Amino acid sequence: MIIFKKKKDLHDWLNQQKTSGKSIGFAPTMGALHEGHLYLLKTSKKENDITATSIFVNPSQFNDPKDFEKYPITLENDIYMLEQTGCDVLFLPSVDEIYPPNEPKGEQYELGYLETILEGKFRPGHFQGVCQVMYRLLSIVQPHNLYMGQKDYQQCMVIKRLIQLANFSCKLHICPTLREKEGLAMSSRNMRLSAEQRKKALAIYIALLYLKKEYSQQPFSLLKENAANYLQDAGFAKIDYIELANADDLTLLNNWDNKTPVVALIAAFMGEIRLIDNMVLTGH
Ligand code: AMP
Repeated sequence: MIIFKKKKDLHDWLNQQKTSGKSIGFAPTMGALHEGHLYLLKTSKKENDITATSIFVNPSQFNDPKDFEKYPITLENDIYMLEQTGCDVLFLPSVDEIYPPNEPKGEQYELGYLETILEGKFRPGHFQGVCQVMYRLLSIVQPHNLYMGQKDYQQCMVIKRLIQLANFSCKLHICPTLREKEGLAMSSRNMRLSAEQRKKALAIYIALLYLKKEYSQQPFSLLKENAANYLQDAGFAKIDYIELANADDLTLLNNWDNKTPVVALIAAFMGEIRLIDNMVLTGH
């Protein structure tokens, strides 16, 4: 695996590959890698000649400075996992490489409704930060195919919008959420949970399964209340949201109309760790 720290070196190298007809797949990350990240890379490897990833803990997307300070960093292990997976290229930039001090930053994107709900509502500025870094990464890498996880459902929609707004030519592939054996969605933040908290955190998955079983039978307000009580009893200190939404555009829903595709989304705190998860309820 080749490691690049400078965007120009990466850009030039990838350009050479493209000129010789090779396709480029890209899966950006913030490191502290787990099987969920590797799944994106394995999918890219099947579909592209060159698979690239990045590890960059993007300061501009953390609305909570403590969350940024405590974000897990496991670089040596990450590099080992990437080598084992057969990733071809790792981009490992510094903050100044992505946000040069002498260049403007903090540009804003027209995300509209998407930014006013769920993660957008509870993490003000978060998606602007995501777009700021993704605009830069996509401009440098210019991949043919971009791989992101359904685990961050709303983020996938935001990136779809960014691709349109910026006229990038890459195709977004949304990969399924990988879970631990019992069902907890894999996440870098899980590393910060104690063994006890990990067990309790499974309640999010069970609440999603409950919503999947019941969504066509009961008003959503009742389902959300039952799910909230369940999470609280299981030890979640604070619930940011439990919502059911149109899976295509995230319009929040109160009832099922027998045809709209529905996704359930949850964000809640186990101790001080904020966890998110989601499940598409309609279909299989
Ligand atoms: P992060 O490092 O958390 O920014 O995530 C990098 C990419 O990995 C994003 O596209 C995430 O949606 C994706 N990802 C994170 N967790 C999972 C998971 N459990 N399964 C599949 N993809 C994931």
